[in-house]
Amino acid sequence: MNATATEQLPVVVIGAGPAGLAAAAHLAGRSIEPLVLEAGVQAGAAVREWSHVRLFSTWGEVTDPAAEKLLAPTGWVKPDASTYPTGGDWAERYLQPLADVLGDKVRVGARVTGVSRSGRDRIVDADRATQPFTVYVQYADGREERLLARAVIDASGTWSIPSPAGGDGLAALGERAAADRISYRVPDLNDAAARSRYAGKRTAVIGSGASAFTALALLADLAKSDDGTGTHATWILRRGISGSTFGGGTADQLPARGALGLAAKAAVDDGHADAVTGFRTDAFERDDEGRLVLVAEDGRRLDAVDEVIVLTGFRPDLSFLDELRLGLDERLQAPVDLAPLIDPNQHSCGTVYPHGVKELSHPEEGVYLVRMKSYGRAPTFLALTGYEQVRSVVAAISGDHESAERVELVLPETGVCGGAGLFDQPAADDATDGGGCCAPAPDLIQLGTAAPAPSCGS
Ligand SMILES: Cc1cc2nc3c(=O)[nH]c(=O)nc-3n(C[C@H](O)[C@H](O)[C@H](O)COP(=O)(O)OP(=O)(O)OC[C@H]3O[C@@H](n4cnc5c(N)ncnc54)[C@H](O)[C@@H]3O)c2cc1C
Repeated sequence: MNATATEQLPVVVIGAGPAGLAAAAHLAGRSIEPLVLEAGVQAGAAVREWSHVRLFSTWGEVTDPAAEKLLAPTGWVKPDASTYPTGGDWAERYLQPLADVLGDKVRVGARVTGVSRSGRDRIVDADRATQPFTVYVQYADGREERLLARAVIDASGTWSIPSPAGGDGLAALGERAAADRISYRVPDLNDAAARSRYAGKRTAVIGSGASAFTALALLADLAKSDDGTGTHATWILRRGISGSTFGGGTADQLPARGALGLAAKAAVDDGHADAVTGFRTDAFERDDEGRLVLVAEDGRRLDAVDEVIVLTGFRPDLSFLDELRLGLDERLQAPVDLAPLIDPNQHSCGTVYPHGVKELSHPEEGVYLVRMKSYGRAPTFLALTGYEQVRSVVAAISGDHESAERVELVLPETGVCGGAGLFDQPAADDATDGGGCCAPAPDLIQLGTAAPAPSCGS
């Protein structure tokens, strides 16, 4: 196929989440035909799975300007920009109307199972860059189809692959066999079945991000309620507790994000959760009653728990991109030029400067991983960052390189400094600044006696 014919093809967007739909809106705004392929039965399928979780971002921070422009003629009214949506609100009041206005440009029940270059496997160089992409789709009714695309924007997120509990990144011994008592999602405690699963029970929560904070706060609320007497959490952290463990607290420029960490701290301070630090899970065993005993790499064994909630992050599904020449960082599985900006081993502030097509390009021209997926395994993604990414990527696809390279966003500071990476180093190493972006590594603190981390920016 010649270059002119290829340019007549649609840009295939994988996933109808906030990123994919925003990308489609930007493409439509530049008169380029988008085709969004969504595996779920509705737009926003992943977001709907955590519909009970309230975002720490306001409505003002989670809608895309090009999408708003597309929605305006339909009479869509943007929700109060200062209020906080739940995942369900985000899906119903923004993503679904946006999918509706895009109409047949969004196909649901359409899972992408492979992407390649037409007639060229990964090895073949000849004429590679001028060939269109082939995109293999499996529909919910079992049909298969192969589509051609001029470019591919992979906005399929990371929700489908939660990380396991094992401290070495693999499922711990016995983890799979304990599946009946393990969840990898923040529970919806308004749901009667989920509530009875955790009410009055001892639950281990593994993880140290916003989702773990949310789960700890929800379990503490359950413990305080009439039907929750006896509910107790064991909070399992791979690292020690430091000034940055609870996020930026009141120094976070996103107050609701800061408040999540403070709620987790309150759960511990009020006795609804015990924190176990430096615990890298090695195995799940059962006691005589079938409850789970967690064993650490250093041999420590915890008291048995009824349930475990593993919230150790997510991973990108790269399986269907195997025939493409991607340039991915070996640690994060994020684009190589983006990785240094977001690598928690080096970049301890959690604050990322805005970026676009320059950081998101691969050796394979015309394919882009955006938003949640572009962060690979890095945990600090913000919706705002993703909208800027898709604006820049779509500008590049349209040939508007000046716009593609322009940065149009100021991001809020997390208020977390000197996180010192992912692993507590031996004492001798603590004297260094951990490669952080703005402050020395924080001292370990005693729970209940110290204030949250100081602001990065101040
Ligand atoms: C509980 C939770 C709370 C969060 N809160 C905030 C917040 O307050 N503020 C903030 O800025 N960010 C927040 N985030 C982070 C981020 O903004 C969201 O995860 C957001 O949904 C990411 O958008 P996305 O479009 O990149 O991916 P997703 O929303 O995950 O969408 C990806 C879509 O692709 C589809 N898909 C997957 N694989 C395929 C395939 N092979 N073929 C076709 N379709 C496929 C999925 O079904 C899904 O609909 C939160 C994340 C979580 C999990």
